[in-house]
Formats: sequence, structure tokens, C-alpha cells
Amino acid sequence: MKPNDIDRRSVLAAIAAGSLAPSGLAAPPFSLPKLGYAYDALEPYIDARTMEIHYSRHHQAYVNNLNQAVASSPKLSSMTVEKLLEGLDTLPADIRTAIRNNGGGHANHSLFWRVLGRKGSQPKGKLRAALEKTYPSGWEPRIREVAMSAFGSGWAWLSSGEHGSLFLEPYPNQDSPLLRHKTPLLGIDVWEHAYYLKYQNRRAEYLAAILQVIDWDFVSARYEEVVG
Ligand code: MN
Repeated sequence: MKPNDIDRRSVLAAIAAGSLAPSGLAAPPFSLPKLGYAYDALEPYIDARTMEIHYSRHHQAYVNNLNQAVASSPKLSSMTVEKLLEGLDTLPADIRTAIRNNGGGHANHSLFWRVLGRKGSQPKGKLRAALEKTYPSGWEPRIREVAMSAFGSGWAWLSSGEHGSLFLEPYPNQDSPLLRHKTPLLGIDVWEHAYYLKYQNRRAEYLAAILQVIDWDFVSARYEEVVG
């Protein structure tokens, strides 16, 4: 048993005995971010049931597993999920895969909920200019192509490298662009859990739909922060 487990047990025992309020038990370091809109806000593009299950069950599971992975290390518990992913190679080998998958799952979904929510917006400012320069024949077909090419479970990511260079790439599983030292700007979840209830195996239809509800104001502002 690790020292932290003993602490936790004695705190739990104290709560059970009524000698310590539950607030004496430290909250787990990671938690679900608040969803900035209702489950049905993205209808008819993304249905409320998919949103509810995706957020409250799938994302929650990544959070729970991430908390479990860092539970025995106060140092790792005090780090942000982004720092954990950026420094993955320096983490203890026995928890590296758990952090990669569940830390990735937590970071990716936290950004995902934020980049959704605004119907009918378009990239603007520096991001629009950079997209047009990098993808002269059109960035939207390229996003769809990348998202369609992600085999199995994964994400299509728009990310920024050094000096604001843009990348549109498929990533497997819950791998984050942070693992490749790029800043994630926009992620499109193409795991089947993201669309199966409404679209079954019709990923292209799901992609056409989700591109209607991207908050490009947020993504554009995020890029401006990165490039300064
Ligand atoms: Mn997902």
C-alpha cells in the first residue's frame, strides 16, 4: 500500500466515525468542466442524447480514470492535464499509458465542448488568413478528408506548431497534439460514440453536421493567443 492510500483510508475512517466533515477529504484534482450550453443546444446537428451520454458518461470516465492514475502522486495531482501530456515521456512508465489515454480523453473533450456551440460561424482574422494560405484549395474539404481518413477510433485535429504553422491531421485514440508539442485549436471527435446513436456508420453525415456548430470565434481567438 502506498502512503497516500493510508492517508486516504484514515480520512475516510474519520468521516465514517463522524469526527471529520467530508470537506476534509481533498477533492480529486480533475473534474468535468461545465458545459456552456444545454444538451439539446446543438440539435438537430448533434442530438441531445448523444451529448448527454458523451459528456456525462464517456468524458466522466476519462476524468475518473485520470484521477485514479495520479492518485498516489501529489506532484502529478497538482499538474494541469496539458502539462502531464506535454511531459508524458518524463512520467513514471507504469502510468504513462493511463495518462496518455485518460489525460488525453479529458483534455480533448474539454476543448471539444468549448469549440462547439455556435451555429453558422466562420474562421476569421489571422486564423482565416492562415487557413487560406495553408490550404489554398479549401480547408473545409481538408478537414473532412482528414476526419474520414482516421481509421478506427480517433480525432481530426487542427493544431498550431511553431510560428503559427497550421496542421490538419488524424490522431489515433485519445492522442493529443500536445504529445507532438503542438497547440490543439480544434478537435473533431470521430469515435463512434460521438455519432453512432444518430448517424450510425454515416461518419460523413456527422462531419457535415458538426461543421455547422463549430464556434469559430472561439477557435480564431485561440489561434490569435497562440501566435500573439
Ligand atoms: Mn468522445
